[in-house]
Parts: sequence; structure tokens; C-alpha cells
Amino acid sequence: MAATYQRAVHWFRRDLRLTDNTGLQAALAQSQEIIPCYLLSGWSGSHRWTGAKRQKFLCDCLASLAANLEHLGSRLIFRRGSQVDELLALVEETGAEAIFLNSDVDPFGQSVEAELMRRSPVPVHICDDAFLHRPDEILKDDGTPYRVYTPFSKRWLQREKRRPAERPKAIRTPSGIGSLPVPELSHWGLAEEDHWDLLPGGEREGRLRMREALGTRIPDYDDHRDLPAVTGTSRLSQDLRWGTISIRELYQRASSCHSAQYLKELAWREFYFSILHHFPEVLAEEFNPDWRGLPWEEPGETFEAWKSGKTGFPIVDAGIRELLATGFMHNRVRMIVAMFLTKDLHLDWRLGEQFFAQHLLDGEIASNNGGWQWSAGTGADAAPYFRIQNPWSQTKRFDPQGEYIKRWVPELVGVDPKRFQVPPENDRPIAKGYPLPIVDHGEERNRTLEIFKTHKAARSGH
Ligand SMILES: Cc1cc2nc3c(=O)[nH]c(=O)nc-3n(C[C@H](O)[C@H](O)[C@H](O)COP(=O)(O)OP(=O)(O)OC[C@H]3O[C@@H](n4cnc5c(N)ncnc54)[C@H](O)[C@@H]3O)c2cc1C
Repeated sequence: MAATYQRAVHWFRRDLRLTDNTGLQAALAQSQEIIPCYLLSGWSGSHRWTGAKRQKFLCDCLASLAANLEHLGSRLIFRRGSQVDELLALVEETGAEAIFLNSDVDPFGQSVEAELMRRSPVPVHICDDAFLHRPDEILKDDGTPYRVYTPFSKRWLQREKRRPAERPKAIRTPSGIGSLPVPELSHWGLAEEDHWDLLPGGEREGRLRMREALGTRIPDYDDHRDLPAVTGTSRLSQDLRWGTISIRELYQRASSCHSAQYLKELAWREFYFSILHHFPEVLAEEFNPDWRGLPWEEPGETFEAWKSGKTGFPIVDAGIRELLATGFMHNRVRMIVAMFLTKDLHLDWRLGEQFFAQHLLDGEIASNNGGWQWSAGTGADAAPYFRIQNPWSQTKRFDPQGEYIKRWVPELVGVDPKRFQVPPENDRPIAKGYPLPIVDHGEERNRTLEIFKTHKAARSGH
């Protein structure tokens, strides 16, 4: 069959792989020559939704993609600046007759897509790739979006899933197109820090991790997923975020691992995509209108202690220190740490959301917002405000030997793990050099209940 186009651009975004890349496959099917490109953002320094560790992971992914394209006889073109301007300049310069890309799932990416559609003089093909079902696909019988996870997940699991496609064997790319070099962290004025211990990024690394996860972690997932001391979860979130593995391939292969729970976790990801799609206001305010305008406290010393892992609550400090070093935190600990910020320190969940986004390699706007609002008790399918996790008893349940805590808080290495399960008595620190708890959990819990109750009563006029 003759190709529709002589030459087309494929714009890589959150799809940094060659295997089963829907937009790239479509471009290859319809065009004789492909110009693969990646557009570098021009920000430097602090940013609301990303940070240095995440950008380092992105650099790895881009270096890997560039090398993989070269293997197929192609070349990844890097440009920097306003995304639509740069794409249109590339089209004009190369005579490309179409642009292919995979859709984004957040409102920022989607507004760029809308602008591109408006301004492009050539056809723009936007494909679905990052999810198994479009964020507007799983709806209730009456056509309205789900607000609660369980019925959403039932319908999501029942729906037939698209199967993964093959990896392309060759890609023809015209020569002589100008490109910036493969970016390094310094491109954004950032530098690696000595204490970092990050997973390497890229399609090859992602596939190795997927193989490892499919071999042991996913089959044993239901037993180990809540234990932060064990690597008992798949550890694939950063690869799903950056598209270094395909969600279709992961789903298909994980389906034969006999973990019903694992597939349900993948549904959580798409539940939050759907929430963000239908209710983009969640990025600014509480999903549940009852909780808008809650009186959060001003961030001060307690926020600084939380951000540096020095609250005197071992499980909270271990979580934050894991995040600062690795750009990852175990899901169980994310919940404990997030509830602690909102329910023990009475600080706005948006502060925690931003802090996580600036440190997580897997920082995903929809899931991060969903996780924070869930923990704060303000979100879709949120834990009701009166269900407040106790960091001491959570430790007893999920890290009884204190292995996770000792891994991340060296001051506590020689300490009896039972001491991580109750507050210290008589103002005696658990270990030399380790702070006393910055608050009393019982007291703060009562305050939270009072704050929520009073707020609800005021809103309903009682
Ligand atoms: C406060 C808070 C913030 C969070 N921020 C993010 C974020 O920015 N990016 C992110 O990918 N996840 C986020 N999560 C969800 C979850 O913690 C991570 O997806 C998970 O820890 C990643 O580890 P894993 O790949 O080993 O997960 P596994 O347990 O192996 O799960 C498999 C996959 O399912 C998805 N998933 C699992 N749990 C959830 C969940 N609760 N919500 C959405 N997707 C889920 C992820 O894509 C994950 O890779 C957050 C959770 C909380 C409580």
C-alpha cells in the first residue's frame, strides 16, 4: 500500500520508547520518512511539577531513545523552545507533510495539542497510547463519569484491551536536519547530587525492570505489596510515566501472573486520569466541595522538618529520606507521610503535592493529585476525614522489624524496632541525634476531627 505522506514528524513526549508506540506506528504506516523529535522545555531552576531527579531520569530516557533510533538508521532531533512554534518551524524546514504524536493526559499537554491543531498547516494525528482506555471512555450507564473507584475499576477490568504491537525494524529519516545535542542535566542549570541513588532510565532499563517484576514481584504482589522493607511492588511507575514500557504489553503479560490485585492497581492509574479529565479543577481545589476552604495552617518549622525527614516519627522520616535519595517512595509510606502532613501538621495537601512532584521520578500529575486528595480526605473515593492513620501503629503493622526505617534513618540502626511503634516516653529521644516527635499524634488527630467537623457545620449552616 502506498504511504500517504513522503515525510512526517513524530513528536515524542511521554512515550519514550520504540516498542508498541502507537503514534510512531501510525507515522510509520502512513509515511515513507519519519523525523523523530523531542522538544526541550526552556525552564530553569524551580518548577511546580518537576525537579532535578526527574529531569535526570528524563535525560537517561532521551539518551536511550536517541541511541535506539540510531540503531534503526534514524536520528532523534532535539529542539528547544515553545513547543508549537518549534514543531511548526521543523515542519516548514523539512517539508514534512504531517505531524504524529501521542496524546497527553493532563490539561497542560492537552492545551498544547489544541493549539497545535489550531495552528498547524499540515494534518496532525493524535493517537492514544499512555493508557488502556481513554480517560473519557469508562462511563456510568447514564454517560456520566465515575466519582468512585470500585465501580470504575469493575467496568475498566471487564473491557477488552488492545494488544501490543511489534517494535519497528527500521526507520528512514532524512539527513542534514539540525539538532541540539542529547541533553544533560546542565541543560536546565541542574547538577547531580552525591547522595542520589536513582534508577537508570530508558527503554532497555525499563524492559529489564518489567522482566524482573513479571518474574517474581507481580506473581507475589498480593502478599508483599504493603511491606515497604520488601521490594514487593513492580517498581514500574516511572517507566509507565515516561512511556519507556508499554501499558498494553505490561497488562497483557501481567494478566498471566495471577495477581488480581496488580491489575486493579493499573486501574487506579486510569481512574485518576479519568478524574483529572472530567474534573480538571482538582488541580486547584478539593474534589469534594464540602472541604473547600478548610483552614490550613501556614507552613513553617514543621513543614521544614517534614521536608527534610526530621519529624521524630521514624516511618515518616524514612519515607521522606527514601524520596530525597531515590526519587521513589513506597505507596504505603506515601499514604502515611501524606496523612501526617495534612492530619498531624494541618498543612495544605497542595504543599505536599508540589513537594512530591519535585522529587518523584514517577511524578504523574493525575495520580499525585489523586493520592494527595485521597490522603487529605478531600478527594474522589477519599478516605473519610475521620479515618486517620496512626504512624506508630502503621509501623507495627507494615514494618514490624523496622527494616525499612533502619535502611533510611541511620541514626536508628541499633535501636529496638519496638521503639518505632510507640511514641517515646519522658521526652527521651529514641536515639542520640534523632529528634523528639514534633507533635503528639493523639492530640493532632483530635484537632483534625474538630477542624473538619466545624468546617462542615459552618458550610451547612449549623
Ligand atoms: C500521596 C500519593 C502520591 C502519589 N503520587 C504518584 C505519582 O506522582 N505517580 C504515580 O505513578 N503514582 C503515584 N502514587 C501512587 C503509588 O504510590 C505509586 O504508583 C506506586 O507507589 C508506584 O510503585 P510501583 O510501580 O511499584 O507500584 P505497584 O504497586 O507495582 O503498582 C503498579 C502500577 O499501578 C499504578 N498505581 C499503583 N497504585 C496507584 C495509585 N494509588 N494511584 C495511581 N496509580 C497507581 C502505578 O502506575 C504503578 O506503577 C501516589 C500515591 C500517594 C498516596
